[in-house]
This record gives sequence, C-alpha cells and structure tokens, in this order.
Amino acid sequence: MTAEARARIDTTVPARNWDRVRLSLVAPITIVVVVAIVCIVVAVLTSARRADEVALDHERNLLTRSIADHGERILRELESVASTAQAYRSITLTPDEEWIQRRLGLWLNQFFDHDFVFVANSSDKLIYALLGHSSVDPRWFNSILPELAPTLNFVRGRTGNTPEKAVRVASLRQKDDPKFGTRVSLIQQFLGRPAVVAAVLVLPNDRLNDGGDNKIAPIALTVRFIDEEVLSEIAGRLQLANLRKIGSTEPVPDGDNSLDLTDAYGHSLARLAWTPRQPGAEVAQSVVPFIVVALAGFALLAAIVFGYMRRTTATLAANESSMRYLAMHDSLSGLPNRNYFSDRLEALIRDIQNGGAPAAVFYIDLDHFKDVNDTLGHPVGDELIRNVTLRLRGTLREEDLVARLGGDEFAVISNLGTDTLTLQRTADRIIASLCAPYAINGHNIVIGASIGIAVIDQRTDYGRAADIMRYADMALYRAKNEGRNRACIYDAAMDADLSNRKLLENDLRRAIECGELQVHYQPIVNASGERIVGVEALCRWPHPERGNIEPAKFIPIAEHSGLIIELGEWVLRRACEEAKMWPDITVSVNVSPLQFRRLDFVDVVERILTETDLDPRRLELELTESTLLGNVETAEVAIHRLKAIGVLLALDDFGTGYSSLAYLRRFPFDKLKIDRSFVRSIERAPDAAAIVHAIVGLGRGLGMKVTAEGVETAEQHLFLRAAGVHSMQGYRFGKPGSPALISARIAAPAAWRSIESDAAAVVG
Ligand code: C2E
Ligand code: MG
Ligand code: MG
Repeated sequence: MTAEARARIDTTVPARNWDRVRLSLVAPITIVVVVAIVCIVVAVLTSARRADEVALDHERNLLTRSIADHGERILRELESVASTAQAYRSITLTPDEEWIQRRLGLWLNQFFDHDFVFVANSSDKLIYALLGHSSVDPRWFNSILPELAPTLNFVRGRTGNTPEKAVRVASLRQKDDPKFGTRVSLIQQFLGRPAVVAAVLVLPNDRLNDGGDNKIAPIALTVRFIDEEVLSEIAGRLQLANLRKIGSTEPVPDGDNSLDLTDAYGHSLARLAWTPRQPGAEVAQSVVPFIVVALAGFALLAAIVFGYMRRTTATLAANESSMRYLAMHDSLSGLPNRNYFSDRLEALIRDIQNGGAPAAVFYIDLDHFKDVNDTLGHPVGDELIRNVTLRLRGTLREEDLVARLGGDEFAVISNLGTDTLTLQRTADRIIASLCAPYAINGHNIVIGASIGIAVIDQRTDYGRAADIMRYADMALYRAKNEGRNRACIYDAAMDADLSNRKLLENDLRRAIECGELQVHYQPIVNASGERIVGVEALCRWPHPERGNIEPAKFIPIAEHSGLIIELGEWVLRRACEEAKMWPDITVSVNVSPLQFRRLDFVDVVERILTETDLDPRRLELELTESTLLGNVETAEVAIHRLKAIGVLLALDDFGTGYSSLAYLRRFPFDKLKIDRSFVRSIERAPDAAAIVHAIVGLGRGLGMKVTAEGVETAEQHLFLRAAGVHSMQGYRFGKPGSPALISARIAAPAAWRSIESDAAAVVG
C-alpha cells in the first residue's frame, strides 16, 4: 500500500470523529454550561446589588431615625430639668438664680453636653441664658431670637407660625402625648451650624395641659449642635463607619452613602456621609471565591471530560482505523487484501478512462502451496506466504501495488510499462524470485508460480475490476496449461477458449462417469528395436461429437478441474488389468502431480495392484520433475514407499523441467525418459545431440535406465542406440494403439524386425 493511501485511511478518521463529537456533544454542553454560569454570576451580582441598595436605604432610615431620636433625647433631657415643680418655683415663683445656674444650666451643659440653655419669659424676653459658664447679653439673644422662633411659637401654641413639617413631625411623635403642644424639638440651622433646638414650658408636669399657662409660663430652650461628637455617638450606635459631615453641595465620594440633613422647612443643613456596609458586595465577595473555585472545578472537569472524550474518540477512531485497516488487509502477509485491491483497481480503471497512464494487473498463483500446507503444516505454510510476500515486495517497485487475494493467490498492479516485452520481463523476474528454494524450519521448499497478465489501457473494453480480474484469470489459466512457471498475457481469444474449456470440462466429467474414455498403449522397445520391453498407457478420449480429443487438451482441463484424480485412478486400474495380457513386459502409467501429491496416493496404487493382482515390478509410474517440486520431503517418502512395494519409477520428459542433479541423486528413479524435443532435434542441432549424450551419461552414471521418447526416424534410432540409450519409444516403433493391437504385435514380432532392417539400410 502506498504511504498516501495509508495516510488516507489513518488520519482522516480521528479528525472526522472528533469534529462530529465536538459538534454534537461538546458544543451544546459548553454552551449550556457557559449560559448557566453567566446566569449564576448575573443572579449573584444582581442580588448583591439589590441587597446593597436595601442596606443603603436601611442605613439612611436608621440614621434619620437616630437623628430624630437624638432631638427627642435632647428634649427629654431638657424636660427632666425644666418641666418640674422645682424649676417652676425657682424660675417663676421665687426666682432662684443659683438653682437655675446649678441645676438647669450646669446640669444640662455639663452632664448632657447641651451647648446653649436659655429661659425666656412670656414675652420671649431672655431671663436666663447659659453659654458655657458665662451669661449672655440679652441683645445678642434678641439677635438670635428669630432662629429660636419656630420652637418658641410651637410651645406657645402659635402654630400658625410653626413650620408645617415640624407640626406634623411633632404631631406624629407626640400625638398620644398628654404634653403635646408644651414641648418640641427641631433640627435646624443655629448660628450657621446644624443643631437640635428643643423647648419646653417651665411648668410642673401636672399643669402642663393647662392651656392658659402655655401663654404665660416661661420657656426653657436648649441647643445642641449636631457636631462630630454627636455624629460619632450615633455612628457608634448604628455602627456606621466614618460618619461625617460634608458640605451640602459637596459631592459624595464614590462608594459612600449619604443623607441630606434638612430642617423642618426642608432646607438642607448639611450632608452626612459614611462608608456603608455592603452586605450584597460582601456576599458577592464571599460567593466569588466559591464561584471561581466552582468555575475552575468545572473547567478542570470539562478539561478532563473533554480530554477523556477526545482520547476515547481518538481510541475509537484508531480502532475504527485499525478495523478498516484489517478489513482492507491480509493479517498474515500484511498486504492489501482482495477488497482493497478491487477498490484500487476500480479507481485505476476510472483514472485510465480519464486519460491516466495505462497499467497492468499480474495475477499470480503459487504452484504446490497447498501441498506445503497439507504436508508440513500451516505454520510452515504461513511462513512460506510471508517469504513470498517479501520476495514479491523485493522484486517490485515501491509504487507497485502488491495484494494477497487469498490462499496462494497474489496480485500486482504495475504501471511500469504495458508492452509485451516489459510485462514478460517483469513476470519472469517475479517467477524467478518466487521459484528459488525457501529454507523454512529446516525444510527445503521449492514452489512454482504462474502469472496471468491483463493490460488496462485506452483500448481496453472497460468494465468493472471484476472483468479485468477475469481477464487476468484467463491468462493465468493459460499459463498453467502451458506448463506452469510462466506468464501469459490476456488476449480476446482467451474468452472463447475459456468457454470452450468449460464445455469440455463438463463433457469430460460425463465421459469419465459413462466410461467413454479409453486407454491406448504405445510400445517401448529395446535399443535394437527388436523387442517390446514395455508399453506406456496413454489416455484417449473419443468424443461423440468432436471426435478424438488429444490428451494435451483434456489432461490440463482434468488437472484444473480436479477430475484428474478420478481419471488417473481409472487409467491406472485399467492399465494394471490389461497389463496381465502381456506378462513379460512392463506397463508405464503417467501420474499427474496432483495425483502424486495426494497423501493417499501410495495407498491407492497399492490397493489397485492388489485388486488387479498385478506384480508391482511390472508397473512403472512416470512422474515429471514438477511432481517433485513443492515438498521434497513428502515426495521422497512417497517414492520410497513405492519403491518398497516394488513399483518402478521413471522420470518423464527429462530435460524440459529443472533437470536437477540433486533430484536425480535424491530420488531412486529406475529410468530417465529423454523428452522427445531433444530427440527431434538431434539431427539438426548439435547441442541437442550433446544434451542427449549428457543425459545418457548421467542416467547410466546413476545406475538408471534411459529411454528416448518420440523416436520417429531410423537416424534418430541409430543415434540413440549409439549413444547408449537402453530403450526407445516413438512412432518408429509403433503409435499408441488399442490393447488388441499391442497383443497382436507382441504375438507377431516379425513385423518389427522388418522395421529394424529398414533402419539398418538407412545407416548402411
Ligand atoms: P507423455 O507421457 O510424454 O507421453 C508420450 C506422448 O508422446 C504421447 O502423446 C505419445 O502419443 C507421444 N508420442 C510417442 N511417440 C511419438 C512420436 O514418435 N512422435 C510424436 N510426435 N509423438 C509421440 P499423447 O498420448 O498425446 O499424450 C500426451 C501427454 O499426455 C503424455 O505425455 C502425458 O503426459 C499425458 N497423458 C496421456 N495420458 C495420460 C494419463 O492417463 N494420465 C496422465 N496423467 N497423463 C497422461
Ligand atoms: Mg509419459
Ligand atoms: Mg513423456
């Protein structure tokens, strides 16, 4: 797989998933939480502000009330001294200056801290005044009399001149007071300073309601400035911080509470300011840490949750990615699997349709892999697949796509070039690398590989990936039929060929079932050609409609479809039965690699020999070199078992396969059969003659008999005889014929001798 494809699979999935989670979960939760937090903060701040406003109002009310109480207290203090019988006596009846000075003046001044104390007669004339310790000039008193007028007028019942508010306040406070109208205290400006001015009639309590006395009784007045001392006392009582007087027009400092001190006329006397208690702010302040902690906690929690979610999403995405990877890859080899390959092939076809560079699909099938699996076990088979994968990767370029389609099937997409030469060279390289021996778990394993190639270019009749794979499969089929370990390139004729093969396969199945097949025998003669020493059983298929079909056509179909097992067994049984007609010669039977690799093959041979009662020494099994490939060890075991039974073994078509000296030494063959392609060429090609000499030398050297196949001419016969071949087979000595024909020839050897004399004539 290319790095780009891998990246496509691996990275987009986590990002997409996290985006999805973020949109569907994280975003709404975050919005809800943020809105909730904002609401809580706003609620806390609003309630705090409201609590502060209430507290400010409350403080102002308390202060107003306290100042009024202060006025009332001044009045009571004055009353406690002036509205007594003693005062009445000392002031009105028998004036007692000393008592006035000591009890009224000093008492009020020194004990109650009143600033001024006056006593005025019914004409509002000053009869006594105390300012500190000294008396007051009556003229001065007259000058300040207007400032004292409101209180005097009230007490005298001259309410018409009394400020309405003062009356109202006094009425409210004193309406149930039996002494109402005989006493009053007002807050007002006095000598330019805010003060409480209080006045009472100097009468004993029991005479206070006597309306007549109001007009004539002296009046005691007292003044107490609302100074720092008073304010500090009130502040102490009300627990107001920093209570002070500021100018009535002076702006109130930020954060301070204030109260305008007004007189009974509503005139501003002064402005009181203090640092308010702000319970709301305090609450807010005390709540803020909790909110901050809660926010921090939430943020931490959110971070943990989101982190966890992110990790979980990443894990899920990674799992998804690895599942997708697994779904698209073969776990054993790590290569892309059939699904992935098909996807890429579809994409490639579209790409080429749109003008992309042509490419080729190589469909690779391993030969003998199943045997390795069956005989050496799956661990070895798995290891073999991994080795094959490595070799494929090593042979191909990085940009070529290598996939395992299943079992022993691999596929490659390559755009290296689509000309026949390049394709064939690439295929040859693959085959050469896959066919070299593998050393796995101490086993020496040789397998083969066949390749079908399908080209996808502008001329391709575009279809789906499945069509391209079908083309490649047909080419692979052809490659296998042409002898394996080779590659074939698909061409349109293969389509027809394939359907023809399918038809033939069905016919062959029926032919085997109905006993339509026959066995013909071809004589194998001694070197001089005089005597038949054996016969080779060759299968024949007289097709009811198509006439005789050659083994070269139907044997590959039988092998490909698996019918060869039944067919081979049938031929073997038939040959063993018929061989009994010719007791002095051997009968050779061809064994397909598929038959030989079956684990029960030797048992089958043994059983047939027993059942047909044929001497095993008269049966010769012909194997080709490809039969021995795959698992050499198992082949060796089977061969030794066959030898032990007494069956003869011939290595057929020698020279066309691997011709490995190692095989010859390892397997105890009785005979080598030189392939007819060499025999055919000995007259024309000197190297073919040399090869024949070499093979004969090799066979003889290893103690084997050598048979030459396809001997057609007298020259070939003489050459081979001179070369030291032990026996010969070919049209020169007889074509394959019916058992009856063979019986006839064995019975009448004269016919053979005439052929022999022909050969002598040619040589002579
Ligand atoms: P083979 O085992 O090498 O058999 C020899 C083939 O060479 C036979 O072809 C035979 O007719 C042919 N032949 C013999 N002498 C001459 C000659 O002088 N000139 C020419 N041109 N050909 C000659 P046949 O019968 O067509 O069989 C072809 C192949 O089919 C056999 O090659 C064998 O591999 C396979 N075969 C035939 N019968 C069976 C069978 O029953 N089982 C299996 N597994 N394979 C079979
Ligand atoms: Mg043969
Ligand atoms: Mg042969």
